[in-house]
Amino acid sequence: MSTDTPTTRSQSEASATNRLALWREDLLRTVLAVAVPAGTVLVVIGSAVAYFKQDVAMGITNIAGLATLLCLRYLRGLTVGARGVGMLFILTGVGVSFLVNHIGAFSLPWLSAAPIVAALLLGRKTALLLTVLICAVVFPLGYVYGLPLEPVPLLPHPLLMWFMLGLNYLALSLILSLSVAVLLRRLDMAVDQANTSQHIMTQLALVDPLTGLPNRRALRDELQALASRPDCQSALMFIDVDNFKDVNDTYGHLKGDELLVRVARRLSTQVPKPSLVARMGGDEFVVLFHPAPADPTPVSAQALAKAEQLRAAMAQAFLLPDGQQIQTSISIGVSVQTCGLGSADDAMREADTAMYQAKGKGRNQVTLFEEFMHTALHQRMQLANDLAHALRTGGLTVAVQTQVNASNQITGAEMLARWTHPDLGAVSPSQFIPLAEQSGLIVPLGDWMLKQTCLLAVRLRELGHVFPLSVNISALQFRQPDFEARLHTILAEHGVPPDALMLEITESLTMTDEGDTIASMARLVARGFRFSMDDFGTGYSSLSYLKRLPLYELKIDRSFVDDLPDDANDVAIVRMILAMAATLGLKVVAEGVETRAQADFLLAHGCQSLQGYLFSRPAPADVWLGGLS
Ligand code: C2E
Ligand code: MG
Ligand code: MG
Repeated sequence: MSTDTPTTRSQSEASATNRLALWREDLLRTVLAVAVPAGTVLVVIGSAVAYFKQDVAMGITNIAGLATLLCLRYLRGLTVGARGVGMLFILTGVGVSFLVNHIGAFSLPWLSAAPIVAALLLGRKTALLLTVLICAVVFPLGYVYGLPLEPVPLLPHPLLMWFMLGLNYLALSLILSLSVAVLLRRLDMAVDQANTSQHIMTQLALVDPLTGLPNRRALRDELQALASRPDCQSALMFIDVDNFKDVNDTYGHLKGDELLVRVARRLSTQVPKPSLVARMGGDEFVVLFHPAPADPTPVSAQALAKAEQLRAAMAQAFLLPDGQQIQTSISIGVSVQTCGLGSADDAMREADTAMYQAKGKGRNQVTLFEEFMHTALHQRMQLANDLAHALRTGGLTVAVQTQVNASNQITGAEMLARWTHPDLGAVSPSQFIPLAEQSGLIVPLGDWMLKQTCLLAVRLRELGHVFPLSVNISALQFRQPDFEARLHTILAEHGVPPDALMLEITESLTMTDEGDTIASMARLVARGFRFSMDDFGTGYSSLSYLKRLPLYELKIDRSFVDDLPDDANDVAIVRMILAMAATLGLKVVAEGVETRAQADFLLAHGCQSLQGYLFSRPAPADVWLGGLS
């Protein structure tokens, strides 16, 4: 959005001209309001003098002057210019009449007032013209018809005296009328400047400073204005840059900002007017899409085609000024607006909901809002509330699943959260853990799990078992600034040593904030903690990256175990993971072992521990503990 387009400039010029005209109208009204009573008094006196002196011309002049004044004041339909000229006519007329009627000095105030009133009501040029005219015509008239002037030593000739009088008048009138004109102009400029500043401030409040795009407020205003327009049929596209946090974490915030500027530019070039691109903040953009007026294609189809075009355009790498190439993608939620139905807020909410669905489908997608999404969203929010309630009121429990070695000896056990909903019954962790992650509840849930792990570890040790208990640590939980401190506190409170726990992390954690994560892991390892990489193989860790992580163990994801030993690909992957772990000196646990054939294959290729239904299902902590002894 430009702050100084030709249109806005000419608009402000036009409003300045209007403003001056309005001021002049005001001034004229005031001048006339004062002039009518003052003039009436003078005319009454002048007429009395004319009557006693039997001066008919003087009487007529007085009456004519007052009549003109009354016309100027009360006659409808006269322009400001005409009334101004009328005022000047009266002032100079009275001045000249005094001059030629031998009333000499009385003429000067009237003639002096004329250019000032001209400057106020008609502008500088008229004032200058009038001053020169008065000098050129009126003073010679004064010389011919006026009262003889008293000679002074330096100016012996009357002509010279009238000339000097004219010159004095000229100088003073010029000074006064020009001062008035300049004052008026400066005042106008000051108001103009104040208006411009106001205009810029309004613009700034509506523009996103980083990208120069309209911001959230501007979009809201536009949506509200659109509701009452004939072209109100439109679509909203809610756009979110996929994995933008990773870009920020990997390349730094400056590069992140540069990427956002480029995303904004590319979106703008793809979205011709009258459609509009706005930035909501962070990595969120919105396109207000106007369909082609003559196109019979439904708005939803046109909007989806445009969104698809945007998605494809954003999937091309971005080149930053320093030559750095960044590959990213966007997720788009589209909602179609029907004229007169729903508010701007509803429209945004719908597009936002559809965008989240697009993210859920694996990112780099376009999704059209459909009514069922509201229900799904509402259900998710309700479930999150219920989970929070369960956390507060002790509604969660723990299941424990044993890990065994080739000799069937227990090498460890995993702590798994369980939730039985009062109405829905058992809710799977694959449903409530992602919900807890999205809502932030995973942090208190993780704390609670750590405490439960410590409580169980104490009881295990009392029974003489020394194997560690594995506990899942979510990325969000690990990234809490006080995670390390809290971990130490919880362990200290229960008197549990760090090696009683195995902290299960996932590749998603180590993909971002790499340096910080490694440093934090290293500090914990130095204190005796051990880390296990859960669901290994489903992320994108490179071998060199894996080497830098202070890991103790890898857990082969269940998806690679499922089809062992028949699936050639899985066989190859699992063998490779086992070989790599051996090279790096890492212990390996295989998850989801359900058959003897799977177990035999894994053990034959060097896998130390197995976890799965073949050996034991996750059991409630007390039941599991009872089964140990
Ligand atoms: P995970 O950490 O990979 O846990 C292993 C999952 O595999 C568990 O599912 C377990 O019940 C299941 N499993 C174990 N053996 C077998 C088998 O032989 N066959 C099959 N089909 N499944 C098996 P669960 O308990 O449903 O947990 C799912 C995921 O939820 C966990 O995967 C973990 O990522 C997450 N989760 C569970 N509890 C917590 C927790 O306290 N904190 C965090 N952050 N995540 C948790
Ligand atoms: Mg796990
Ligand atoms: Mg796992």
